[in-house]
Amino acid sequence: MTRKPREPAERETRLARLILTLRSQGVTDPAVLAAIERTPRDLFTPDLFKDRSWEDSALPIACGQTISQPYIVGLMTQALTLEPRARVLEIGAGSGYQTAVLARLSRLVYTVERYRTLLREAEARFQSLQLTNIITKFGDGMLGWPEQAPFDRILVTAAAPEEPKPLLEQLKPSGVLVAPVGKGPIQKLCRYAGDGVGGFSVDILCEVRFVPLLEGVAREL
Ligand code: SAH
Repeated sequence: MTRKPREPAERETRLARLILTLRSQGVTDPAVLAAIERTPRDLFTPDLFKDRSWEDSALPIACGQTISQPYIVGLMTQALTLEPRARVLEIGAGSGYQTAVLARLSRLVYTVERYRTLLREAEARFQSLQLTNIITKFGDGMLGWPEQAPFDRILVTAAAPEEPKPLLEQLKPSGVLVAPVGKGPIQKLCRYAGDGVGGFSVDILCEVRFVPLLEGVAREL
């Protein structure tokens, strides 16, 4: 069965509604909202769920993973306090949606993913969007990307069982790291902010539900 493609006007309306929802929930940074507005989420969702691309909900993608809820993407991106010159490390590219949003707000984004299939699909999307400031790596993001460290900002999009020490060590002294932290199905979204002299403060932003950060690379494709 083939579905009639959505009329562009309807797509625009749905996107506008989504942006309003995010703003009403506290994603107020105009640059973050503009980056989300310019990133076609329907390019990142699987065919089965295309129709739901503009809903404010997480959706299943391949390899048993999920594309994050737009509100959470907005909240985490806003919490990073990005600057146009920033070099950013992302752990867990997944569909590449969050990566694409980060790329519109930073100089360079390094992203690590443990599923080859997901990474290849994400790379194709970056190409089609002409996002040339994203550098990808197939590997275990729990270890970060030591060869490219230190980073101005680090974003983890899978739940770390505990404080992600190896990643904090790859952060610049005044950098910011945002990560869901916790072992259970519900985690705390934490923002670590460097104090410039080797220490950092931790703020808990809210409770979230992420797939877990897993050690090693996936053996399946
Ligand atoms: N931001 C993504 C979220 C994907 S879900 C999106 O919106 O599409 C989290 C991703 O983290 C999954 O793709 C999962 O495979 C990946 N992941 C989990 N543990 C990892 C690890 N140790 N290294 C790299 N990626 C990891």
